[in-house]
Amino acid sequence: MPALLDVQTARDRVLAAVRRLPLEAVPLAGALGRVLSADLHAGGDVPPFTNSAMDGFAVRSGPADRVLRIVGESRAGAPADTAVTDDSAIRISTGAMLPDGADAVIMVERTEEDPSTHTVRLHAVVTPGQNVRGAGEDMRAGSVVLPAGTVIRAAAVGVAAGAHAGSLSCARRPRVAVLATGDELVPPGAPLLPGQIHNSNSLTLAALATEAGADVVLVDHVPDRAEATRDAIAAALDDADVLVLSGGVSVGPHDHVKAALEASGVVEHFWRVALRPGKPTWFGTRGEQLVFGLPGNPVSSMVTFLLFARPALRALQGADPAARRVRMPLAQPVPQTAGRDELVRVTFVDDAATLTGPQGSHVLTSMLGADGLARIPAGEGELAAGVLVDVELLQ
Ligand code: AMP
Ligand code: MG
Repeated sequence: MPALLDVQTARDRVLAAVRRLPLEAVPLAGALGRVLSADLHAGGDVPPFTNSAMDGFAVRSGPADRVLRIVGESRAGAPADTAVTDDSAIRISTGAMLPDGADAVIMVERTEEDPSTHTVRLHAVVTPGQNVRGAGEDMRAGSVVLPAGTVIRAAAVGVAAGAHAGSLSCARRPRVAVLATGDELVPPGAPLLPGQIHNSNSLTLAALATEAGADVVLVDHVPDRAEATRDAIAAALDDADVLVLSGGVSVGPHDHVKAALEASGVVEHFWRVALRPGKPTWFGTRGEQLVFGLPGNPVSSMVTFLLFARPALRALQGADPAARRVRMPLAQPVPQTAGRDELVRVTFVDDAATLTGPQGSHVLTSMLGADGLARIPAGEGELAAGVLVDVELLQ
């Protein structure tokens, strides 16, 4: 039986096997969640021109109580065709181009218009630059506005649009196949016979893969039979960049996954990690295809997906594989496990990491509402309340 590999080494081995996927142009409208492959430079200043922050009058700065002739209007999308002088003003809308000659805008609430004489009285002093937004205040032409590796969220979609991009260069989404093993599994919603359980891992793992930016191309289930397992693995590897298996990777008489993977030409990189939950985790490759054999216990399969498969999916897309981390005090004492780091599910209450409830690897409800996975280092004792621990954030 091979020795247990520490979590960091195991994760490094996974990442060492990852090659970023080929690039494609992604229209901005479909870019949410995608990963930018190269720095995006602003194609022009944003805003593109000096404009008004208010509805009011474009004027020259100066004292209060001036009476000015209204000589035109500048609307959003339709600039004025005249200039402002010392004794004139131009009506202006928010976002409209500042007319030549003006250096400020007075807000309409500080003015009084006399329509009969086409004049406006200014009730306040106007300072240079008041209520004016300069060209390039948000983005400067040519500057990097989104660095390579950015995961495109809502704000980044808008920034890219403002920066003149109509599409983005991104690695294609990883194609992921999910294959659950187990004679006891029946599909969600089906009635249970004695000894059967619902297959929750398939859909959970598919959901995690989707959340990590993958295209889930196959979700299947195979009974605990050597030949069927081999066939299902071969079929899944036909079209996938990544195969995620659940169950059947331990040492029981009905665990066929390791042998079937070997028979399918998948080369083992590691098996068994000094981790709780998730000790039997297996990882291998066939060419550039990645294969994760995750343990079947529902919490184990989620935790090991998050620790090993999610970083790989991110790296395949060119994103930073590392999860965000914080250091947090434990809200309560937590016993350690000899020889294995334990990752407990925690939620943040009053800035302390609080266990989500019982932490058995079969207690999937312990993942509900979890903010992160807190690492309890291997040991014989227990960590007292208040001890600082590393927490990998789930989002
Ligand atoms: P295994 O890793 O195959 O030994 O399975 C470990 C435990 O996880 C057993 O209690 C299984 O019934 C359970 N299990 C395996 N696969 C699934 C699945 N797809 N959904 C829910 N539970 C599972
Ligand atoms: Mg099984």
